[in-house]
Amino acid sequence: MARYTGSVCRLCRREGIKLFLKGQRCFTEKCAIEKRNFVPGEHGRNVRVRRKLVGYGLQLREKQKVKRMYGVLEKQFRRYFEKAARKKGITGTLLMQLLERRLDNIVYRLGFASSRNQARQFVRHGHFQVNSRKTTIPSYLVSKGDEIAVRPKSQENVLIKSNLEDVLGRVVPGWLELDGQNFKGQVLELPQREDLTIPIEESLIVELYSK
Ligand code: SF4
Repeated sequence: MARYTGSVCRLCRREGIKLFLKGQRCFTEKCAIEKRNFVPGEHGRNVRVRRKLVGYGLQLREKQKVKRMYGVLEKQFRRYFEKAARKKGITGTLLMQLLERRLDNIVYRLGFASSRNQARQFVRHGHFQVNSRKTTIPSYLVSKGDEIAVRPKSQENVLIKSNLEDVLGRVVPGWLELDGQNFKGQVLELPQREDLTIPIEESLIVELYSK
């Protein structure tokens, strides 16, 4: 499967915001946004003030931000948009809901992984099960009531265990429930827009794809 293999901090610097792609490092002063918050590339340092974007440029950057945050490539992202557009309701909100329902995102949100990238790797390596069935597809869409758990033989995984210890300092969203002692969590509700505190204007993405 195609995936981005370059420096993820460059992506944050390109967008000018923290996309939280590198786990604990994102919360330290080593974060590239804290140290070098200018556009990457040869002349990036000279672009002291980011150009004020309008119209297409603004819509494009918003889409890129979301794609990069969730680690989704263009083709798949477009499919999520088309799926959201076919449903009844606010397309932008439905799009964000679909992205949030991805299994790799849930594993990250519950705190079993320190980033969505790590969560994707854990899922692919067969460390998780959904409703007691092993699931290795990071894009698997969870539903209300689903139980996501670390598989018994993966409960000794050092990384998963240390992530769970760290999650005590992080907030698990209210639409999910974590039972860290038993290495499992549950989807209590599907997330509503107000549950997603990410600084995204999804209506710009809808405008971009509706042209
Ligand atoms: Fe982005 Fe995290 Fe890198 Fe900071 S450390 S630039 S938030 S990926």
